[in-house]
Amino acid sequence: MDTTGNIYRGRFAPSPTGPLHFGSLVAAVGSYLYARTAGGIWLLRIEDIDPPREVPGAATTILKTLEAYSFEWDGPVIWQSDRRDAYEAALERLTDRGLTYVCSCSRRRVAADATSKGSEGPVYPGTCRDLGLSGPNHAIRLRTHDETVVFEDDLQGSCRQNPNQDIGDFVIRRRDGYFAYQLACVVDDADEGVTDIVRGCDLLDSTGRQMVLQRLLGLSPVAYAHVPIAVDAIGQKLSKQTWAAPVPPTGSTRVLWRALDFLKQSPPAELANDGLDDLWTWAIGNWNPAALKRLRKIPVEIA
Ligand code: GLU
Repeated sequence: MDTTGNIYRGRFAPSPTGPLHFGSLVAAVGSYLYARTAGGIWLLRIEDIDPPREVPGAATTILKTLEAYSFEWDGPVIWQSDRRDAYEAALERLTDRGLTYVCSCSRRRVAADATSKGSEGPVYPGTCRDLGLSGPNHAIRLRTHDETVVFEDDLQGSCRQNPNQDIGDFVIRRRDGYFAYQLACVVDDADEGVTDIVRGCDLLDSTGRQMVLQRLLGLSPVAYAHVPIAVDAIGQKLSKQTWAAPVPPTGSTRVLWRALDFLKQSPPAELANDGLDDLWTWAIGNWNPAALKRLRKIPVEIA
């Protein structure tokens, strides 16, 4: 329950860009344990909003793999590909209030015009902000203002982000017509009544943008917990070639044990050889997210 008496509603929202890998399993385990120990709901959403990056069959593989690891989600799976109308409506609301504009800049143009760099590369300098462009085949950006968004992340503590300075006016509909993750995620979380978002620290920087969108769309704020991501010895997020290799799709107690170990839960060694049910029962009974406080990256040995 949160302070307003709402039941906890968490979710896991994988993108079908490949089979479930260790990093995604860790995020799934973290969000599942938060939800289950809160006596809450755990929803599953397939973020199939980016067909160019989608791998055919990956969504089905992810669902089967989650099932094989004995995750139990509540209600039907939500598919972002079915949700275009909701994203259109949100975009229209923002546009009606003069909060969006059409942008014809290529990536190269943005890089050339930018005068500063932020967490995701060149900060968009607002080249098209006042040009009044229109027409298809262009991106749509959200007008941002110089404001600092402050939130208390359950694991990362007090966070401050200024999307205007760090990213600039950001894309909410891409030039290929697909909606950007930031908008789709915010609209879906609100429509699904999500109260708590638990995901990897690689998405920590998205939170400020999502909170700006929530506010502009008049949506309820949500709570956040960003779990650490797996990195190699020099701090790079693991790529598909290393630990991001798919987890065994048929389910493996040993791999779930490793995910719990990564999440600093100190699972008993003997449970690595028992069934998944016993390990889940232990994990739910002993969930201790405080062990992850302030951890953003954890180096893992590459097997
Ligand atoms: N679809 C995103 C991913 O797979 C996660 C989005 C989220 O949890 O907000 O990285």
